[in-house]
Amino acid sequence: MASTGRGGGWLLRNGIVAGRRQDVAIRDGRIHRIGPDLDGTGYEVLDVTDRLVLPGFVETHIHPDKAFIADRTEGLRAGGPSAQTLVAELKKAFTVDDVYRRARRVMELAIRHGCTTMRAHVELDAFVETRGLEAMRRLQRELAGVLDLTLIAFAQEGIFNDGVTQDLLREALKSGVSTLGGCPYMDRDQRAHIDWFFETAQAFGVPLDFHADSSDDPAMLTSDYIAEQTIARGMQGRVTLGHLCTLDALEPAHRARVIEKLREARIHVISLPATELHVKGRADARKTWRGVTRLGELRDAGVNVAISTNNIVNPFTPYGHPDPLRQALVAAMAGHLGNLDQLAWLLDLVTTNAARAIGLEDYGLAEGRRADLVVLDARSPAEAITEQAEKLWVIKGGRVVARNSRTNELRIPG
Ligand SMILES: [Zn+2]
Repeated sequence: MASTGRGGGWLLRNGIVAGRRQDVAIRDGRIHRIGPDLDGTGYEVLDVTDRLVLPGFVETHIHPDKAFIADRTEGLRAGGPSAQTLVAELKKAFTVDDVYRRARRVMELAIRHGCTTMRAHVELDAFVETRGLEAMRRLQRELAGVLDLTLIAFAQEGIFNDGVTQDLLREALKSGVSTLGGCPYMDRDQRAHIDWFFETAQAFGVPLDFHADSSDDPAMLTSDYIAEQTIARGMQGRVTLGHLCTLDALEPAHRARVIEKLREARIHVISLPATELHVKGRADARKTWRGVTRLGELRDAGVNVAISTNNIVNPFTPYGHPDPLRQALVAAMAGHLGNLDQLAWLLDLVTTNAARAIGLEDYGLAEGRRADLVVLDARSPAEAITEQAEKLWVIKGGRVVARNSRTNELRIPG
């Protein structure tokens, strides 16, 4: 079977598209038509009767460069070093080939799990220098047409702690990295850090992403300042914030004011529930703070919210796996999101909302759009999340890039 289908086209027959049983015709890499009972002449027909058809999953916040290193360290324990400290030490020994091999495994798994677009962080600092970037660039080239991979030049160690990070970030942007990523809580002066990132992003004309508000201390809050700066500098819609854990620790009235500012600044929020649940709340004996941002309240306020995998098999999330459908289940548990409309919304968080957060155009299940799709072995979003349904077909730009199946044999009487 040619990966582009007979005559260059696929017809997905009888899938559940936007809640109804419809066909999807794909030709020349694009969604040609959506509707019931389409003529299959000239297409290779795939029977996907009553299977959920979604636009391809989008990972918006993920760290392939530090994936699969949990076996190189003992991990988190009471009174022990933080995940940041553990990984910073390991990073010094990363080589280009080492990063390449681990990151490639992440990409292959992500594709297998229905991911058609990924925006990944790549760390630049005195410890790893440009070795991670070199490896990720190689993957970008190799996977062209299979996974759209864009990169964020990311300052995991802050920008005032060594003499090279600021230059490395600028050099990366000059050489074409498309997004700039800050991490205010890694520097003592968070506002100076934020200001530097806004100034640099404006100078290069690139969007900004911050790892923001990782603490349970309201005094460490920065998302309100970032929102003010976003508006003052006219960058509305071009700033994404990962984490926002501190929101969960604010008094309700204060939280509502911050959320309103985020909405006004058109900031995109990317929650990373698996990492928060592993890392946060380890010091508080009285009440275990779980650190996942307020997904439901952000939604109610009209803020664009996405979720993403973040860490894969490292001290931040030793059981992390690049499967957006798994993140949807984790978010459902962490955010009390179990009603049918909430479960349906969770799939938006790894598809359309995620695409919006990173400014993806030409995306979604509509005629004329690029044919990036995933077919799940489920009839509804609730069933897909509950059963962690298999991704039967993954189609990227009209090409089948993954085909998955599960075999179950139930040997019971009757
Ligand atoms: Zn992250």
